[in-house]
Amino acid sequence: MPISISFFGAAGTVTGSKHLIEVDGLRILLDCGMSQGEGHESDKRNRFFGFDPHDVDLVVLSHAHIDHSGMLPRLVAEGFRGIIWSTPATRDLCAIMLEDSARIQESDFEFDAKRAKKQDRKPDWPEPLYTVEDVKPTMAYFQTIQYNAPHKIAQGVELTFTDAGHILGSAAVQLAIEQPTGTKHISFTGDVGRYVDRLLPDPVPFRQCDVLICESTYGDRDHVPVEEARDELLHHVQRVCVEQQGKLLIPAFSIGKTQEILYTLNALSNAGKLPRIPVFVDSPLSINATAVYREHSTLLQEDVRAELQRDPDLFGFNGVQWIQKPEQSKALNARKEPCIIISASGMMEAGRIRHHLRYNLHDERNAVLVVGFCAPGSLGAKLLDGASEVRIFGDTIPVKAAILRMDFYSAHAGQSELMRYIGCQDAAKVQRTFLVHGVERSLTAFKAKCEGAGFKNVVVPKRGERFEL
Ligand SMILES: [Zn+2]
Repeated sequence: MPISISFFGAAGTVTGSKHLIEVDGLRILLDCGMSQGEGHESDKRNRFFGFDPHDVDLVVLSHAHIDHSGMLPRLVAEGFRGIIWSTPATRDLCAIMLEDSARIQESDFEFDAKRAKKQDRKPDWPEPLYTVEDVKPTMAYFQTIQYNAPHKIAQGVELTFTDAGHILGSAAVQLAIEQPTGTKHISFTGDVGRYVDRLLPDPVPFRQCDVLICESTYGDRDHVPVEEARDELLHHVQRVCVEQQGKLLIPAFSIGKTQEILYTLNALSNAGKLPRIPVFVDSPLSINATAVYREHSTLLQEDVRAELQRDPDLFGFNGVQWIQKPEQSKALNARKEPCIIISASGMMEAGRIRHHLRYNLHDERNAVLVVGFCAPGSLGAKLLDGASEVRIFGDTIPVKAAILRMDFYSAHAGQSELMRYIGCQDAAKVQRTFLVHGVERSLTAFKAKCEGAGFKNVVVPKRGERFEL
């Protein structure tokens, strides 16, 4: 029974995670993520899987982020009829996240088409990859298992999820595949979290593997150590909202980042330090995701669970307003007073944050606080690179607002943290290591780092490349 693995996304790049394992005619797809950040190129990749969804027997999902789960509805629409394995929290997050993704695609498509008509041009985008209608049937294919509970998912194939500490429910995937020569262990890290004191526990070590597929987002650098994230965030709020009387826009992934930031703001509020400034959480998805975090609070780290005894609502405080309806979101554009707006998406590629940027970037009193990774080519990356103007919904917007950055909230392990994580392995026993989910610079640096630590046969696969194991 030869085993092979082919890489169809997050190969030489950070989005679109999709790796196909084939064992004796059985096809297991690790993640089914959406490509993002490269405009029409990403769109093209999303419209062409590179394999036939009919032929996929099982999907094993590492976590709910859209660049790992976002193409599931299209996979099902194109004929997938197997089981999607995930943790319970990942399933709950996917249910709201995929619907949100569909809704955003539909409304962006409509908005673009309307403007195109007005401006007498062809629409920039083809029709949505999938619609809200496609999401429900997709959710019916999910089955869940808890962390550290081995489960037979096919003849001779056992799956175990271990906590990756990246977002709620995130898992590293451990596959044990029976072979005539003995059991082959394949580990896929998914996205690896941080060893910092935040909402989630540290990434959990995993059993010895023969083949390792490891993410490399920050493979070339460490995060700036932050003593007091609370002070840094408070400093930005004081400066922008109190001294400059401006708006502080925080583009944030609805899942993970938004809850981490609310948790910090809640702590500042509890300590009586947060100025009386309205905080708008403008993303229906963030609101729903926060509810899922509350439901699965047993997955949070110990200190945080203890804190829940004193403050039952770690994400809500005086001054927070949850924005659901599009009209409420639009009303924020007319607001002159200082405020904090937390809105998705984190890379600023989609969602309501684009509207807020469109209305607020031109004003030097305002600031954008970037708290996460922005894929090259994304609007977020352009702003971080110091663009003096950007295109949003067909308009050219001058950038006068300050572009600030905070590292603490990164959900991805830095280089040393990644090395600490895979340090649970005896490198000499790992026969092959594949590095995925990184840009060229991080992949190259991380490959050298792994080789230095004794990992052999370290490969950076290209998109579409297939390897016999
Ligand atoms: Zn992720």
